[in-house]
Amino acid sequence: MSSKPILIREDGKRVDGRKPDEIRPVKITVGVLKNANGSTLVEYGGTRVIAAVYGPREALPRHISMPDRAVLRVRYHMAPFSTDERKSPAPTRREIELSKVIREALEAVVFTQLFPRAGIDVFIEVLQADGGTRTAGLTAASIALADAGIPMKDLVIGVAIGKINGTIVVDVNELEDQYGEADLPIGIAPNLGEIVLFQLNGVLTREELKTSMELAFKAVDQIYRVAKDALHYKYMKLLEEVKAQ
Ligand code: ADP
Repeated sequence: MSSKPILIREDGKRVDGRKPDEIRPVKITVGVLKNANGSTLVEYGGTRVIAAVYGPREALPRHISMPDRAVLRVRYHMAPFSTDERKSPAPTRREIELSKVIREALEAVVFTQLFPRAGIDVFIEVLQADGGTRTAGLTAASIALADAGIPMKDLVIGVAIGKINGTIVVDVNELEDQYGEADLPIGIAPNLGEIVLFQLNGVLTREELKTSMELAFKAVDQIYRVAKDALHYKYMKLLEEVKAQ
């Protein structure tokens, strides 16, 4: 039997040297795809996810369209090269489930009623998986929607909390996710202060849940600032280019 690795060192730090409340370096680039209406590349440490948004456009096939709002379609997919062992490109049950929970999280912020009969398609492609791909994917999707100019109440920022060797930590990497005792992916609309995605795998005490929420809100605040800067950067650059013409 393989023994469980030590994930919290004697000095309280994690395998990659982070403190429990420390997120990985976050990098966000907006407008990375020419043919999408909105796109972004989001990196949480080694996890790299691209999101592309198409629409609002005619919802096809027609029968899926709704008379009073746009239909949001989300596809979360892991590229076969994103994991250490090749993942089959065919959609798995996990990917179908994650596409659904991400769609529901986004429906909480998108003003779909502004576009009756239209379709908005969101593609989330995991390029490199190192833990927290659904939460990085959710962040990427909301930024790509904003980049596509789709009216929203707020962005949605995702982060995964974990319990490892009895310690609550933020933004788990793959090793922590694999060997941790609990894992809690969370999506938050920071300005609304609303939780739009909440899943729990494992068991947490009331006190641990409180710590988890505190860490999640703090991390979401930090990631939100990077997201806002990335959107500003793209649009300020565009504005400067227009002015220079
Ligand atoms: P999340 O990526 O949202 O944390 P999971 O908890 O299901 O979702 O997965 C945890 C991590 O395990 C992923 O981020 C990825 O690094 C790894 N993983 C997931 N699915 C696979 C797979 N099919 N093959 C290899 N690694 C995987």
